[in-house]
Amino acid sequence: MSVKYIFVTGGVTSSLGKGIISASLAKLLRARNLRVTIQKFDPYLNVDPGTLNPYEHGECFVTEDGAETDLDLGHYERFLDTYTSKANNVTTGKIYRTVIDKERQGAYLGKTVQIIPHITDEIKRRMLLLGKSGNYDVIITEIGGTVGDIESLPFVEAVRQLQWELPDEDCAVVHLTLVPYLKAAGELKTKPTQHSVKMLQQNGVQPDVLVCRTEHQLPADVRKKLALFCNIKPGGVIQSIDADTIYRVPILMREEKLDEIILKKLNLNDLPEPDITKWEEFLNRLTSPTDTLQIALVGKYVELQDAYKSILEAFIHAGAVNRCKAKIIPIHSEFVTDENLEEKLKGMDGILVAPGFGERGLEGKIKAIRYARENGIPFFGICLGMQMAVIEYARNVLGIADATSREVEPNAAHPVIDLMADQKTTTIKGGTMRLGAYKCEIEKGTLAYSIYGDTQVSERHRHRYELNNEYAEQLTQGGMKISGRNPETALAEIVEISSHPFFIGVQFHPEYKSTPENPQPIFVAFIKAAMEYRKLRKQD
Ligand code: GLN
Repeated sequence: MSVKYIFVTGGVTSSLGKGIISASLAKLLRARNLRVTIQKFDPYLNVDPGTLNPYEHGECFVTEDGAETDLDLGHYERFLDTYTSKANNVTTGKIYRTVIDKERQGAYLGKTVQIIPHITDEIKRRMLLLGKSGNYDVIITEIGGTVGDIESLPFVEAVRQLQWELPDEDCAVVHLTLVPYLKAAGELKTKPTQHSVKMLQQNGVQPDVLVCRTEHQLPADVRKKLALFCNIKPGGVIQSIDADTIYRVPILMREEKLDEIILKKLNLNDLPEPDITKWEEFLNRLTSPTDTLQIALVGKYVELQDAYKSILEAFIHAGAVNRCKAKIIPIHSEFVTDENLEEKLKGMDGILVAPGFGERGLEGKIKAIRYARENGIPFFGICLGMQMAVIEYARNVLGIADATSREVEPNAAHPVIDLMADQKTTTIKGGTMRLGAYKCEIEKGTLAYSIYGDTQVSERHRHRYELNNEYAEQLTQGGMKISGRNPETALAEIVEISSHPFFIGVQFHPEYKSTPENPQPIFVAFIKAAMEYRKLRKQD
């Protein structure tokens, strides 16, 4: 069978959920035993989103092989329960960098290097790349941005060329649009969709399927009208109605027969019906919780939900296993003071201190950690959250009043968190952190061991600083245990306090590997501990 390529474009507005639609389609095709992967092409000039502030573009997702990527790759991994890689996220920056490097090497000697054909050729090469690995039957490519944006044009042109070059049955284009409901008129409006498809057609691309985001059911006459005026075969216009959870979208897409329409276009016949029983079980548990909890998420990007995307999703997965809805209460670390600490954290069943960079909000994080430690509230610190837990312990338990991180005080007298040795010579910011999967060896008889049930685990990283091992003995003597270390470098990966009911800090980012079908064990244990704590508190 030849490799099939599906392109997903978006029109009318951004934030329609192309990533979720792509992931849902991939899920349904995978459930029919096809080998599927999804890649995202982003039109911005950053080489990767690693240098972007989360306010700009939401969370930066990290893959096993250490790529800093768009958060949509997190959705792909969560829906497909498989890993993506560096090759799954391409940006305009990456494309231009390759072409300009080649030009300097003399690869185009004598030629004028141009957007067409050189940039578009490089886009096409990358669009087809994963298909050449022999590992996949279907490659879904999501084009970031909205059709009509100047910066998306080279991508759309590449799709046009591929739609022309590939055999008809090897290529399909899905266009996601919005059909707004005008309350005053009491009507669903098709015009924005017609315009956006026209724009796509002007660029030479004819979509095979229109997926229409809508708040109301799309009646047959509206579908027919859209099909007629957008030149789509009957049955090719489907709805994507607002759902209670993104995890229901694969089910809704199956009801709308998105997979069947695509399979027909790709001439893939006689495939088994999709088996998504495990997914449905997860969905049932998710939507029928028997318990609720309040978890504080203490961070500095809390105004923007997308900044902590993978953490929020990991709570959803871990909550579902425990049949418990964890309500995440965002707490802005910058505004936590001694005076309002109690008021902000009093009702919480667990406290998570989030990852982050820079000085802003650090003292608030330390105060929240002290509150969790002193009051026996389940605590979970991730990356910067773990580093702040170490500082809090050094200051308030070991009595090192000026303990701090080299990240905020380059000339610190007591840098209990210090710059990693290999970072000292790095001046370039992009892609130079300690990134991706590293092994962690866990000591038996610790909380970490009881959570993982294993002495060897692997988790993903994104940091420059680490626990300064010169303070390891003092910390350990004083009651903070280093229960997980990197076996090669002895870098502290996990810290815990045995005298506390549940206090754990991890240098890695466990949230990246959590999926509905394989929830991350620390999140699962944290929710359990929070449920315990809540029960005890109620009894008091
Ligand atoms: N800023 C810290 C470091 O670079 C923590 C990073 C993070 O939380 N991802 O080590």
